[in-house]
Amino acid sequence: MKAKKTKGFKKNLSFYRINFSFQPPYQLVFDGNFIKQMLDHNVDLDKQLFKYTKAKIWKHTTICVLRELTSLQHLFPRVFKYAQGLSKINCKHIEGVSPAECLIDIVKPKPEFGGDNNYFWICTQDDELRSNLLQIDHVPVCYLFQNNLFEMAEPSRTCKMRIQNLKELKYLPNEQEKQIIMPIKKEIKQQQAEKRMEKERKLAQELAIKIKKPAKGPNPLSVKKKIGKVTKSIKKRRHKIKNKKTRRQNKQCVNNEIIEQNS
Ligand SMILES: [Zn+2]
Repeated sequence: MKAKKTKGFKKNLSFYRINFSFQPPYQLVFDGNFIKQMLDHNVDLDKQLFKYTKAKIWKHTTICVLRELTSLQHLFPRVFKYAQGLSKINCKHIEGVSPAECLIDIVKPKPEFGGDNNYFWICTQDDELRSNLLQIDHVPVCYLFQNNLFEMAEPSRTCKMRIQNLKELKYLPNEQEKQIIMPIKKEIKQQQAEKRMEKERKLAQELAIKIKKPAKGPNPLSVKKKIGKVTKSIKKRRHKIKNKKTRRQNKQCVNNEIIEQNS
């Protein structure tokens, strides 16, 4: 059994174990074509199953399957001989029905036996029978994949949905429980709202403190020298020089005027 398929087998088996209480030793029921495939490809079923389930298995067939194999024993003597060695389920089909009908019938819950499910895994290579069996929720359907790998078919979608619905119903509260739960739920919601508000209030306070805090001065190394002051002092100096010049010029003008007057 390859790892990839084993994962599917284990997953499907655990689905049936959890939801339909399948427990070891597992009861396997074979039809003729499954036995033929198993013998043709030398499948060691006990070894494969023990490796992955660590459990014992019991192998069965039905009276109707054996009846069909008896009529075909000249064609498939090995298959007939193998089926003869299996334990036979008394299906109570006195007149005899086809193996497919017989296998579907034995897995149906019988009201005369209390309507309980039985715990058979049906092993068949017949695709049509397999899909018909999968419509009965509690039946694990097995086959040989790639001729020699024992596999359990995935439960049908309807079966999975039914199980899901049942689980939801099981965990949903009834009216009496609702009356107890509702006020508690309301109280919890209120407490949560108060907690949230308190948290928001604290956050707002923290933010307000942060805003009030004076900003730290910038890193002096990262700040450029202030140009304003420098330019101001330069301007002041230029103004002084200019004033000196004009004063000198005015003085010279006055001197010139005096000289002209004197002459
Ligand atoms: Zn039968």
